[in-house]
Amino acid sequence: MSWFTRKEPSFQPDDSERTVITEGLWQKCDACSQVIWRKALEEGWNICPKCGFHFRIDAQTRLKLFFDGDWEVFDHGMTSTNPLEFVDSRSYTDRLAAMRKSTGLNDAVICAAGKLHGRRVQICVMELKFIGGSMGSVVGEKITRAVERSLKERSPLIIVSASGGARMQEGAVSLMQLAKISAALMLLDEAKVPFISVLTDPTTGGVTASFAMLGDINIGEPGALIGFAGPRVIEQTIRQKLPEGFQRSEFLLEHGFLDAVVKRTEMKDYIAGTLDFFCGKA
Ligand SMILES: [Zn+2]
Repeated sequence: MSWFTRKEPSFQPDDSERTVITEGLWQKCDACSQVIWRKALEEGWNICPKCGFHFRIDAQTRLKLFFDGDWEVFDHGMTSTNPLEFVDSRSYTDRLAAMRKSTGLNDAVICAAGKLHGRRVQICVMELKFIGGSMGSVVGEKITRAVERSLKERSPLIIVSASGGARMQEGAVSLMQLAKISAALMLLDEAKVPFISVLTDPTTGGVTASFAMLGDINIGEPGALIGFAGPRVIEQTIRQKLPEGFQRSEFLLEHGFLDAVVKRTEMKDYIAGTLDFFCGKA
């Protein structure tokens, strides 16, 4: 498929995260190299009209695609305390401040509740532009609280992942979030409240290794990079060429790691149908 031929996206968990070029009226497709009118792209679900390549979209845009109307946002004000007083090329506190300014968010996830085809649901969407969508203490706590709201209300949970994995600047604290969220999801499972995981480009590291792969149904967007370690790291480690399309949604579906690959235009209806199946008609 055509999107396999594009360049590997470089995503580093830093401020230089490059997704979609936001300047100019025209944009080149990462997959087919055709030039697309930006307005047509934005009006067309951010999918290339020539080849069907799914561009990355931000968390706000994603919420609009899911909810019927307005939604309520939870825990927006929660911020990291920089528990390790971490400094790499700059201090983590400064990095967080810069990210807050550029994204308008306080951390890498938005947790919201509203109606999806008439059914009340909890939806958490990760924001890749906020330090590579990395999961630290705030993302862990906000998602855990969303799971608890789902449990209390018996409203289904949908988590849309876009992440480079755990947040290194929080060290072991970020790794603890894997266990915390997974334990909360187990309670949701025991209570038989559905959890649908949507994996978008890219979903890797500790996010794949915890909640992203724990859905009652795990759905990938077409062409999304999904894995634990990135393909380049694996190639360098095992010194072998990886098969074509390795770690892309379609490859994972074929090998049993995903339950479905669903186009962005059909995702909402697909999820609604799945929830009808689990819970009865809304
Ligand atoms: Zn294209």
